[in-house]
Amino acid sequence: HAVTTNLKDIIRTISDYPRPGIEFRDITTLLGDARAFRRAIDELVQPWAGTKIDKVAGIEARGFILGGAVAHQLSAGFVPIRKKGKLPHTTVRIAYSLEYGVDEMEMHQDAVRPGERVILVDDLIATGGTATAAAKLLRQIGADVVAACFVIDLPDLGGAVKLRAMDVPVGTLIEFA
Ligand code: 5GP
Repeated sequence: HAVTTNLKDIIRTISDYPRPGIEFRDITTLLGDARAFRRAIDELVQPWAGTKIDKVAGIEARGFILGGAVAHQLSAGFVPIRKKGKLPHTTVRIAYSLEYGVDEMEMHQDAVRPGERVILVDDLIATGGTATAAAKLLRQIGADVVAACFVIDLPDLGGAVKLRAMDVPVGTLIEFA
């Protein structure tokens, strides 16, 4: 029996979610498929296998699922980057722009020590507003942001270019143009 399915084919697209005109890329179908989930994690970590990564920082919420698995596979620690007000200890915080308005994300101020090598993980990069803010937050506490990895890139929205412009190497597995 055939077991090869492209990762791209296993992403479900929901039209007009969360708003009319948006094509939402739903990764729950990938996460729910044992082979696809394993393959996605294997491909995300592949460039870093055998290198020293201290921490993986995952962006709430889908970045927690992927980032936890990536951290485990790289024998690294995991650091959550969360929407404001969710973390119990002292935090550092950054404001970032959304399509409509602004929001804030934060992380524990002692989650990464200065000079530690960190990989940032999220499910998808679109405009890059979320990921560039997360990278800045990590640098604010002295992290060495070694790379940012995403399952999906929407290249037309320019996020990966913005991250590379701040000298953060970007890895992505699938593009939707
Ligand atoms: P950006 O800040 O790059 O414009 O948007 C990326 C953030 O929004 C990520 O945290 C990502 O999880 C979420 N996001 C935006 N569009 C989609 C989508 O179509 N599918 C998924 N799964 N997440 C999205």
